[in-house]
Amino acid sequence: MGNGTEQVKNELLTNELFQPDRTIIVTGGAGFIGSNFILYMLETYPDYRVICVDKLTYAGNLSNLAAVMDRQNLRFVKADICDRGAVYQVFEEEHPDIVVNFAAESHVDRSIEAPSVFLETNITGTAVLMDACCKYGIRRFHQVSTDEVYGDLPLDRPDLLFDEETPLRTSSPYSASKASADLLVQAYCRTYGLQTTISRCSNNYGPFQFPEKFIPRMILNALEDKPLPVYGKGINVRDWLYVTDHCRAIDLIIHRGKDGEVYNVGGHNEMKNIDLVRFICRELGKPESLITFVEDRKGHDLRYAIDPSKIYAELGWKPEIGFEEGIRKTIRWYCENRDWRFTNI
Ligand code: NAD
Repeated sequence: MGNGTEQVKNELLTNELFQPDRTIIVTGGAGFIGSNFILYMLETYPDYRVICVDKLTYAGNLSNLAAVMDRQNLRFVKADICDRGAVYQVFEEEHPDIVVNFAAESHVDRSIEAPSVFLETNITGTAVLMDACCKYGIRRFHQVSTDEVYGDLPLDRPDLLFDEETPLRTSSPYSASKASADLLVQAYCRTYGLQTTISRCSNNYGPFQFPEKFIPRMILNALEDKPLPVYGKGINVRDWLYVTDHCRAIDLIIHRGKDGEVYNVGGHNEMKNIDLVRFICRELGKPESLITFVEDRKGHDLRYAIDPSKIYAELGWKPEIGFEEGIRKTIRWYCENRDWRFTNI
């Protein structure tokens, strides 16, 4: 457990407002980051009650939570965050202290093919959750957003980074829907006094990520000696963060972040896509001849790079898992769980 988290726990224990039996609703908790967050929270705060609300779309997989499913303090509710009746019922029954919203349609390529479900879940769903927070007097609504709301940066200006004041300038229907939700969150904070925080994190990787996403796709294809499709020339740059470092950042923000604030989360780990695929090939002992360059994604963002100095300074967060360690753990996990994508419970 990192210093930041240890410090939060110590501070919480001496804080009058702290209730050891806090209840947290985690939406999208059967997805990649949401399930990692639930596992992290139940380990870090064994007395918290966690309510996972998830529609179980193609991206949700309950087996991600298999290790904790029999815990008395975890409840799973299959529900759509756009379903106002179902959402209000969970809030009525559980009286949560904190709501963390991971539920989203999250794949850029799908948003280009069919944007409407992105608008429905990512925008309307967020509004329904915040209406419930206002109605039931919830103390903290945390919106899990993304660095993609800032658009992209040029490849030839490594000095430029996204900070929290960078204007929103989206490229895809996915990022536009996430930016819209962020604006709504800020509006609910200002207009209704809802206590909100937003995190904007760079690209995550780790266990339980659906194989349509870049890193698991490359690992699984390489394991099966299938072609490794890379967009364009592979020169696009992404800023990678191991998923549990993101979870720790959210833990710090929901407990200690300031109302109404946005926190960027990233580990200064920029890499060209092609270099990342080559690294995976080397780790798995596979030939680079598997790499095939395919027609570039429409509107493909060139470079993302986060300036995380605010969360470093205000909340003492720093990434703990270096890239080589994180990617090796991830590769090992996919090797040991090759059937995971076909399982559910
Ligand atoms: P994911 O696609 O793996 O999981 C999304 C989860 O949301 C799934 O379990 C799905 O069943 C659920 N869901 C979808 N629509 C729903 C609805 N209408 N009602 C209830 N549940 C619904 O996504 P992820 O990669 O874990 O991303 C989680 C959040 O983090 C998203 O909001 C995403 O924008 C954000 N984010 C992701 C990354 C990343 O690199 N993956 C980086 C920064 C931010």
